[in-house]
Amino acid sequence: MYDLLVVGAGPYGLSIASHAAAAGLNVRVLGRPMASWRDHMPAGMFLKSEPWASNLTDPQGRWRLDAYCATQGMTARHAEPIPVATFAAYGLWFARNAVPPVDERMVSRVAAHPAGFEVVTEDGEVLHSRTVALAVGVMPFVEMPSALRGLQPALASHSSHHSDLDRFRGRDVTVIGGGQAALETAALLAEQGTRVRVLARADRLCWNDVPPLWERPWWESARLPHSGLGCGWRNWFYAERPDLFRRLPESVRARVASTALGPAGAWWVRGRVERTVEVLLGREVAAARAVPGGVRLEMAGRTGEPLSLETEHVIAATGFRATLDRLGLLSAELRGDLAVAADGSAALGRNFESSHPGLFLAGLLTASAFGPAMRFVHGATFTATTLVRGVRHRLGGTPLAVTPPPRVGWRPAETPSQARC
Ligand SMILES: Cc1cc2nc3c(=O)[nH]c(=O)nc-3n(C[C@H](O)[C@H](O)[C@H](O)COP(=O)(O)OP(=O)(O)OC[C@H]3O[C@@H](n4cnc5c(N)ncnc54)[C@H](O)[C@@H]3O)c2cc1C
Repeated sequence: MYDLLVVGAGPYGLSIASHAAAAGLNVRVLGRPMASWRDHMPAGMFLKSEPWASNLTDPQGRWRLDAYCATQGMTARHAEPIPVATFAAYGLWFARNAVPPVDERMVSRVAAHPAGFEVVTEDGEVLHSRTVALAVGVMPFVEMPSALRGLQPALASHSSHHSDLDRFRGRDVTVIGGGQAALETAALLAEQGTRVRVLARADRLCWNDVPPLWERPWWESARLPHSGLGCGWRNWFYAERPDLFRRLPESVRARVASTALGPAGAWWVRGRVERTVEVLLGREVAAARAVPGGVRLEMAGRTGEPLSLETEHVIAATGFRATLDRLGLLSAELRGDLAVAADGSAALGRNFESSHPGLFLAGLLTASAFGPAMRFVHGATFTATTLVRGVRHRLGGTPLAVTPPPRVGWRPAETPSQARC
């Protein structure tokens, strides 16, 4: 019987596991480490968040991104984007050094059990735990426009289905969306010789500004503070005070969670898009059907121009929508037991515990409760410390089980310079 099973080994799951293990809990983390970053983002992408806002978290703050970069002879600097591949490698380094052994199996089912929870792995093993933290990230919540849902995968896909865009070399691709995933995917496609256009609902694209210098006169910092979610006091509040955010009325939280930090391209991708990508604005795909050689998109738009086009493939960079009904791994009884907010997200207590005692949630699923920080790696620090406090409280304050023996590589006392790379 475990104290805590963590489902998901991305930035949130690994951070939670690190804090739980350090607290002496008998914890096991399941899932392919950093899978979203290794398998669901195209090679050549960069992080939009600042390096200093992209740390996984351990209680001593040892296994930071800058420490990993130093082991690789790199320097993580403000306003210099980090490649996604480097970040994925950082997560694996963190997993090797700051977390007990990761069980790479996927979890297929989580159900309530008289002593806590029953967790079934993909190969059918049944594990028992007194508490469970679901840190399944973004992939269960992929959002495809309804008009594209009937098309074969050869004709339409979600941006997260691609770790390699090579198959689109020399072809014609339409990318739907106006956010960073759409714009960077389009830039990468254009740069490899794909004929590519971006189709966005908005009348104009938004671009983030180059961030101000790290070292600035104090009055500039006071007017426009840096935060893990960008500059300004509003972002600072979202980034630094998720606890206060949770005290806002539910309707305000839901609105902010779905609108704050909306679609925008990073400053460093702007020139790449403007040089190479056709952009069609103010248009929404109303219908799509297969035609010889590709797909025909019928668009609703405000411009009066011709409203259809043919393309060989459509990539929907249309994000993720985290609602409880999409959490297929929860048993129907357990899901039915959970209190749900009006926007379909879970109602959560102040320690990330759902209305079912002992079931904790983390990451995107918690953005309606704790704010936009939960959509980014930055929110992992607040989550891991708060959630593990909640688990300990649920378990009665002190861990009751014995921590499994450490394995090679699980040495929390090491310093990063001694770490396994
Ligand atoms: C293209 C793109 C770019 C992004 N860029 C940034 C950025 O620059 N900065 C930033 O802060 N955020 C960025 N994000 C958001 C990013 O996804 C989150 O910040 C971060 O990944 C959240 O971590 P997580 O652990 O919640 O989820 P994930 O990283 O998605 O990890 C979830 C893990 O759970 C595992 N899992 C899922 N289901 C199961 C299961 N049933 N059993 C076992 N394991 C399971 C997966 O295998 C995965 O390893 C980006 C997202 C996208 C799509």
